[in-house]
Amino acid sequence: MAPKKDLPATKPAGEASSAKKAEKGKSEKKHKEERGVKDMYKVEGDKISRTRPTCERCGPGYFMADHHVRYTCGHCGFTRYKQK
Ligand SMILES: [Zn+2]
Repeated sequence: MAPKKDLPATKPAGEASSAKKAEKGKSEKKHKEERGVKDMYKVEGDKISRTRPTCERCGPGYFMADHHVRYTCGHCGFTRYKQK
């Protein structure tokens, strides 16, 4: 009987594979860019100016969202197209 060639050893069972990786690198949470009033105002010296137009329907205090070609009011839905 020809001696059987030794099969390549399979992974030894039960051997704890290279220790658990330290669970340090937690999935990084994407830092949400803070948006808020600070974006709406620009401070120049001791004066502030608004960087967005306010809704003419709702009055000052209601800022309009700046879109590419238009501003919209999230409050009443008023849309104003930018003029060039
Ligand atoms: Zn409005």
